[in-house]
Amino acid sequence: MFTAKEISEINHLLVPENNIVIVTHHNPDGDAIGSSLGLKHYLKAKGIEAIVITPNDFPKFLKWMPDAKKIVIGEYKRKVAGEAIYNADVIFCLDFNSPSRIGILGEWVTKSRAKKVLIDHHQMPEQFDYVYSDTTVPATCQMVYHFIQENNEENLLNTDAAQCLYTGIMTDTGGFRFRSTSATTHRIVAELIEKGADPAIITSNTWDTNTISRLHLLSLVLGRIELVKEGKVAVLWLKRSELKEYGFDKGDTEGFVNYGLSIAGTKMAVFFMEDLYEDFIKISFRSKENVDTNQFARKHFNGGGHINASGGKYFKSIEDTIEDFKDIVEQEVF
Ligand code: 5GP
Ligand code: MN
Repeated sequence: MFTAKEISEINHLLVPENNIVIVTHHNPDGDAIGSSLGLKHYLKAKGIEAIVITPNDFPKFLKWMPDAKKIVIGEYKRKVAGEAIYNADVIFCLDFNSPSRIGILGEWVTKSRAKKVLIDHHQMPEQFDYVYSDTTVPATCQMVYHFIQENNEENLLNTDAAQCLYTGIMTDTGGFRFRSTSATTHRIVAELIEKGADPAIITSNTWDTNTISRLHLLSLVLGRIELVKEGKVAVLWLKRSELKEYGFDKGDTEGFVNYGLSIAGTKMAVFFMEDLYEDFIKISFRSKENVDTNQFARKHFNGGGHINASGGKYFKSIEDTIEDFKDIVEQEVF
């Protein structure tokens, strides 16, 4: 948590006269959008308007969230996003640890004179004016809740805020399953339900939204899943031509990598995908127990994240990327 002095300084900045901006990471997920909108609704209840800005667009299954339609998407509205960041007095940086994770917004945020407040649960945060970083917390949404709790303002959490924060905790814990899901997480989730978050509706809005094309894409990927390193590593992949053929939409491959990890005996699952527009391979890593995907992604694949969930990029063909990966993973001890 921030120190008492930091909390007091941040609260002094949270006044209606100041321009408040909230930014979150590239390819926003449920926790990125949930924490940003959750914080926005809390600030609104305090009488403070904030603008949420994302570097690029986010999946349809998150667009039901209250005020999701008001999010400024940097790649579509460069001028509005740039001006808001330029004029900001405070920029909340949620669910990322480095300006390199916010795409086109990174340079603007770095140059801005605004005070930058980081709330994030990824490893190795970079320099910000105020840092609340805790890698043991499963979701940034939970940290936003702790921040509100620290202010003794849980009473300001309305249904909109509760729904957003619940969503991010639900998605980042894989439905309350991953290791860092704690009793505290469940207590907070219980509070959020009491404040109006509806588990059945949120789950259905977020997860029961498959399209037939997504399921066909999944069946293609599952049909050729490969095990290496004596069954300890599952490899999944998709080519750009296949994404096009199946009418890929943003977010369609979310969660595919987890199927690899569901195979008994696996310690790591990796999903390789040719980026639809740019010339690199996007990689998702997931692992069990102490197999550290953050270190692995940082060291070999230009990425990072958490111990059990990370991402990265590689600048070779998908075939060569997978070959390199197989060589590298054989050298790892686990
Ligand atoms: P995903 O596989 O769902 O894209 O990402 C898993 C986790 O790793 C997320 O917490 C995400 O923020 C992080 N992550 C994904 N891609 C990258 C990347 O290229 N660099 C870094 N540093 N983290 C990433
Ligand atoms: Mn997160």
